[in-house]
Amino acid sequence: MNTSAPESALGKPLEAGLYIVATPIGNLGDITVRAVDVLRGCDVIACEDTRVTGKLLKHCCVTTRMQRYDDHASDRQRGALIDMARSQAVALVSDAGTPLVSDPGYRLVKDARDAGIAVTSLPGACAAITGLTLAGLPNDRFLFAGFLPVKEKARTDVLNELAEIEATLVFYETGPRIERSLRAIADIWPDREVAVARELTKLHEECRSGSAAQLADHYAANPAKGEIVLLIGPPAETAQNHDIDALLIGALADLSPSKAAGQVARMTGEDRQTLYARAVELKTK
Ligand code: SAM
Repeated sequence: MNTSAPESALGKPLEAGLYIVATPIGNLGDITVRAVDVLRGCDVIACEDTRVTGKLLKHCCVTTRMQRYDDHASDRQRGALIDMARSQAVALVSDAGTPLVSDPGYRLVKDARDAGIAVTSLPGACAAITGLTLAGLPNDRFLFAGFLPVKEKARTDVLNELAEIEATLVFYETGPRIERSLRAIADIWPDREVAVARELTKLHEECRSGSAAQLADHYAANPAKGEIVLLIGPPAETAQNHDIDALLIGALADLSPSKAAGQVARMTGEDRQTLYARAVELKTK
């Protein structure tokens, strides 16, 4: 039995604690040097599926012991990992990408933190962020909303709940469900720009943009395979409203709400009464 402290590839022993390790979302070349280092040097790797993680470990020539873990694990199993992390290095990976992002780990991290155990996170691939960097949609504000529900009513409820959010919305989806989700989006937001980022970092990577209806027609004719990030651009009026608010605020610096509304109405062609109501609102904020 090896009783010495685990060593990383750089020859420095890993300190005890919980290491959250991001792994590739398709292209194994995306594993980070530090991730390999920690996976090689830790005492145990907690993973969702030992077959999936086993392939990655084999690719990286890592022979560390694996142990199955997900958030449905019993308190006893989680407690055992936490206990181990008090004196040993425990790594957590998911099947792909960043653990805890629509993947297990939340409970483990929470319990570890509550127990005063050192938790550190090694950043790496994440499908939501990769999709966001490809889609060409505004990304100064985005909201990641996980998987859209499968059932029609629940899906519509979620979309309606997010309708007012002034940000790009990011969802996880799968090939067989994409057309139905796009049809639901087309019913609610016919004008918002949508992007489907599919099979990211893999051989058949693609990112397709258009209205939800256009994309639904495309995937009806060419059924989508594989893994998908679905992105919906912010409401068009968001940008416009922001501009109008900015114009009104500028005008209100020197003018009364009524005069400011008149000025902005002349500049934008917007309804003067509506602008006046907004100007009064802004003035009293
Ligand atoms: N934790 C992962 C991450 O950091 O992206 C996500 C895990 S979640 C269970 C799996 C979902 O992520 C897939 O159904 C898909 O929506 C998205 N996904 C994962 N890999 C992807 C890829 N290569 N291309 C597009 N989407 C991907």
